[in-house]
Amino acid sequence: MKRIEVIVVGGGPAGIVAAIAARRQGLQAIVLDSRNPPIDKPCGEGILPQGAAALGALGISLPTDCAFPFRGIRFVDEEHSASADFTGATGFSVRRVKLHQLLVNHAIEAGVEFRWGSRVMQIDQEAVTTAKEKLSYRWLIGADGQNSQVRKWAGLDSRTVRSKRFGFCSHFQVKPWSDVAEVHWARGCQIFITPMAGREVGVAVLSRDPGLRLEGALLRFPALAEKLRGAALTTREMGDSTSLRILPAVTRGRVALIGDASGTVDAVTGHGLSLSFQQAIPLAEAMERDDLAHYQQAHKKISAVPITMTRLMLLMGGNDWIRRRTIRLFQKTPGLFARMLAIHGESMPLSSVGVAEIAGFGWKFLRT
Ligand SMILES: Cc1cc2nc3c(=O)[nH]c(=O)nc-3n(C[C@H](O)[C@H](O)[C@H](O)COP(=O)(O)OP(=O)(O)OC[C@H]3O[C@@H](n4cnc5c(N)ncnc54)[C@H](O)[C@@H]3O)c2cc1C
Repeated sequence: MKRIEVIVVGGGPAGIVAAIAARRQGLQAIVLDSRNPPIDKPCGEGILPQGAAALGALGISLPTDCAFPFRGIRFVDEEHSASADFTGATGFSVRRVKLHQLLVNHAIEAGVEFRWGSRVMQIDQEAVTTAKEKLSYRWLIGADGQNSQVRKWAGLDSRTVRSKRFGFCSHFQVKPWSDVAEVHWARGCQIFITPMAGREVGVAVLSRDPGLRLEGALLRFPALAEKLRGAALTTREMGDSTSLRILPAVTRGRVALIGDASGTVDAVTGHGLSLSFQQAIPLAEAMERDDLAHYQQAHKKISAVPITMTRLMLLMGGNDWIRRRTIRLFQKTPGLFARMLAIHGESMPLSSVGVAEIAGFGWKFLRT
């Protein structure tokens, strides 16, 4: 049986970047995926500044012909709107298929081997079995997405999935009207607008209703529907679920999970891709040091802000009174929204928000 230093199950963004990071630590890496590239997936396609920085640290730059830089985020509801810039940084939006091909190309250049069309059927403490071969590993990375089998096989699964919601995404041929990503809020749903390169915008609706598609959701957003009126759809609508899933542990023995396999945050935060890029670096360091505990600790730290943001945004999404007041407060106090975005984009630590500031926020919130 052939022995490989690092086997990655799942060749989505998380698995490929994990393999690139492993190669940069001098480890041999093979990625197995049941599908063939370039792989598409329903996604808002925004990469936050910290995600772009993690890619940069791994030598992966996002070319201007396919990556649209966005400078911040705007929240809009029926009456109010608030926007803020990322402090000293930019986010990027890249079509999923282009991002996938770009990552595959980088990985091949870095010396990563791929086995496309290889579904992993089983793992044990020594080896991975596909329909075609059995490969033994030193380290096994489960990067097989939110319904990870590796997580189950390794005994790392947790039944606790909170706040399951559904997202449907498509693209419209229209010149982006803004250089910020927009989250439009209405009763029971949000629409996420991502400006894209090549006169296109990405449109994603998120709600608890699996039957709420873009066409129906746009009826709740007349101003937005007006902007998209007459624009051709450039991709077919695709949907997936999104949830908050926090795992007590992401490593066991010589197995580690990354990306959606290692837990998820709600898509409205736009954190999913960035999280996996950030996780790849400490995971590779941990394998090189023979100490997966290093990765476990780093994973917990990296997930803290996205988990908090998920909780806050789900609270807003689930209660019209809270949502309206919050957006009104952000509009009236732009500095507050800028601080929240600085935490979201990780240019300011969550711990910098003190008890007095939280009390002040509560007071302003009630008086708004
Ligand atoms: C509606 C929606 C909008 C989103 N918007 C954003 C956004 O704007 N920004 C953002 O950062 N994130 C967003 N996300 C989250 C983001 O899409 C995910 O976090 C990201 O795709 C996770 O990548 P991954 O590589 O972990 O998993 P995946 O992309 O799911 O890749 C997993 C791979 O594993 C392979 N695989 C699975 N099982 C096996 C097996 N047994 N054998 C071999 N291969 C296997 C699959 O074929 C797949 O290629 C959104 C999610 C949704 C649902």
